[in-house]
Amino acid sequence: MAFCPKCKSEFKAGIVECADCNVPLIGALSMDEIIDFTELYACNTILEAEHLKIILKERNIDCNLRLIECSSFPLSAGVTSETRLVVPMNYVATARQIIQECIENHEISDKGLFIE
Ligand SMILES: [Zn+2]
Repeated sequence: MAFCPKCKSEFKAGIVECADCNVPLIGALSMDEIIDFTELYACNTILEAEHLKIILKERNIDCNLRLIECSSFPLSAGVTSETRLVVPMNYVATARQIIQECIENHEISDKGLFIE
């Protein structure tokens, strides 16, 4: 089992580089280095998700985006997708506060949903 040192993703044996971060994988991480990430917020659009990601990164919160394909809307013509903001567990409270500020300042719409 190998890990990406940047995003902490796990990879199967044989893969040598993280496709997202373009960095070489390492064999294993010490327990201290393994950070649990959690889905915090489901963004209304990918643009809002990208916007929040930049804002959080500016505050030194290492977050990622996860695109969820969703076809559960019977009335929609095609497949819709939702973008979820993934943040480290220890930054959930801070990130939530920042997102709420963004909503209040109308930097993003209030159509997103908190998951965590
Ligand atoms: Zn990675």
